[in-house]
Parts: sequence; C-alpha cells; structure tokens
Amino acid sequence: MAKRDYYGVLGVIKSASSEEIKKAYRKLALKYHPDKNKGDKASENKFKEASEAYHVLSDKERRANYDQFGHAAFEGGPGRGGGFGNFDFSEFSSSFSDIFEDFFGDFGGMRGGRSRRSSGFRGDDLRFDLSISLEEAYHGKKQEISFASSNKCERCDGYGAEPGTRPVSCSMCGGQGKVRSSQGFFTIQQACPECSGSGEQISSPCRECRGAGKKHTRKKIFANIPRGVDDGTRIRLSGKGEAGIKGGGNGDLYIFVSVENHSIFKRSEENLFFEFPISLADAALGATVEVPTIDGGKAKVKIPAGTQNGKQFRLRSKGMPIMRNKEYGDLYIQALTEVPVSLTREQKSLLEQYKKLEDAKTNPSIRNFFEKAKRFWKN
Ligand SMILES: [Zn+2]
Ligand SMILES: [Zn+2]
Repeated sequence: MAKRDYYGVLGVIKSASSEEIKKAYRKLALKYHPDKNKGDKASENKFKEASEAYHVLSDKERRANYDQFGHAAFEGGPGRGGGFGNFDFSEFSSSFSDIFEDFFGDFGGMRGGRSRRSSGFRGDDLRFDLSISLEEAYHGKKQEISFASSNKCERCDGYGAEPGTRPVSCSMCGGQGKVRSSQGFFTIQQACPECSGSGEQISSPCRECRGAGKKHTRKKIFANIPRGVDDGTRIRLSGKGEAGIKGGGNGDLYIFVSVENHSIFKRSEENLFFEFPISLADAALGATVEVPTIDGGKAKVKIPAGTQNGKQFRLRSKGMPIMRNKEYGDLYIQALTEVPVSLTREQKSLLEQYKKLEDAKTNPSIRNFFEKAKRFWKN
C-alpha cells in the first residue's frame, strides 16, 4: 500500500512549525488513541500512521531527510524488510512515551478530571452557575449555594481500604501505576487500567464507601459575592469541589456569575447609563428632575434652560462599586426630549402663538442649516 504524505497525515502544511506539528499530532493521538477506540482496527491504523508521521516530522534531521527524499529516506537496505528499516526502535519508543506522558494530563481530564498528583487523586473541580440582579451586584451578597458533591470517607480516610487492612500492590502493573503495551512496532506507556494509575489494589474495600474513598453528598455553603461583581466573573472557592481520595486534595468550586439585565440601568464595566425623557418645556425653560440611582435612592439633576436632545450628564460616583476598591464608577444619563403628542385645542393654540414668535435666535441650528442649504442650491 502506498504511504501517505506525512504532512498530509497530520493535516499540516509543509512549512508548519514544530509547535504546529506537535499540536496536530496531539489532536490525532487523542482522537485515535487505542484506549478510546478499543478493538477498532481503522483507528489503530490511523493512530500508528500519525505516530509514524510525528516521529519523522518532530525531529529536525529526520524531517530534513524526508523533505529531500520523501519516504525513500527511510526505506531500508536489502533484506531489512522496508518500512522502518532505518528506525532506531528503542529511540522511537522512548520519544514516544515522552510525548505520551505529556498527553496523560488530557486523558485524565477526559475521564473525569482524575489526575495523579504527587500523592493521591485530587478531586474534581465543580462549576456552579449563579445569576444575580444588578442591585445585588451593587451591594454584594452572601449567597447560599447547594450542590451535589462528595466528601472524603471518614471511615477509611479516603483510602478506600477497610480500617486495619492495607491496600496491596496492583498485580497488573506491579505497583508502578503504569503499563506498557505493544502497538505493533512501538510501545506505549499508559496509566494502568486495573488501578487507574494508583499502583494499589484494595483487597478488603471500606464498608462505608465500598472502596471509593469518598461519599456523595449535597453540600451547602455560603459564598461571598463581592460588591461590584461583573457579568462573567468566576469566583474560585479553593477546596470546595469534590473530595480527593488516597490523600489527594479536594477540587475547587467555581462560581460563574451572570448579572441580569436591568430595566433602567445599562452597565459598562464600572459605569452605569440610562436615557431619561424630559418634556419640551423643561428642555427649553430648564428644570430640576429626580432620577433613580442604583442604590435604590434618587438624585436631583439640574437641567439648564436650552438643553438639547441627547445631552449627557455625569453623576460622579453613582455607578457600580469597583471590585476590591473603595471607589465607584459614574452614572451617565442622557436627556431625551419628548415632543408632545395628543395636544388639546388650548395647547395647540398656545404653540401656534409661540410659533409666530420663533426667530433665528431661538433656533440657531435651523438658521445655520438653511444658510448652508441656500449656498448649496446657488452653486
Ligand atoms: Zn471508606
Ligand atoms: Zn495497576
């Protein structure tokens, strides 16, 4: 069977960087890893093909040879059976297991976040989605949170063995936690499937947790949601996630905060904003109006005579609190002049009287515009 081009196998271009090659291989290896595709011959072949391509392209010298001579660069001399004739097998398997060690973090993650630390297994991180109002974000709050989690089993102290008994060395991996398996022409090292990499087996499982080392439970905690928290903020509560086992630490709890939209206030980081309608008469004559503030109070705003539509006012420190800071953002409000509608006969006649008195001084923008228009029509 004709061999596929190594770059094509990894799906990278010929000028790909070594980082890109590693990334591409990593993706394929995770996808076609025999562990995830048990007994699937096609996946196994893809995995081998990708590994072979990576073996060549990840090495500067081999890659240069391949670029120059193609697959012929690695074809053995007479009697060597072709294919991998020139490969140094021992080197291949060692470089391969190196990269696999690298990958195990990911494999662990896909199997539920169990990654081996220096001792034991750290518990999973948990996520809790919390939606709060803008007022709550303003004041901050103590929020009771209840979620499914696990506690360390007290009876066996998280080790899973019945008190008085000891775990024994895993018979499959001899206590190493890792096994090597032969994938045809190379060897890979992986976490022992029997003991999940712990190197130990429990002969008499704890009666309380049946050897799991932890017990499912619902946890209730009070979380401090800080003043000024913004939409999308992640709050980490260290050690509040799932229980670790065999001496491993607990996972963390992450609270993902979303802040609901408000019917009046719009937020942009620490500043707040809204439009407030004012009457034509107030805009022309000037007025003092009361507007709401996010703390639940009111603020007086003086609208000067002749306030134009869209005019913005700034109310200092009437915005959101800035997290971990004593300062506040500002509140910006924008005047929206409302043209009166549904006029009574009397209102109409007053406006008509006023209209007769309008002149260039009362409406300078109109005058300016039509002077420009006149010049435009002349030319
Ligand atoms: Zn137990
Ligand atoms: Zn084992």
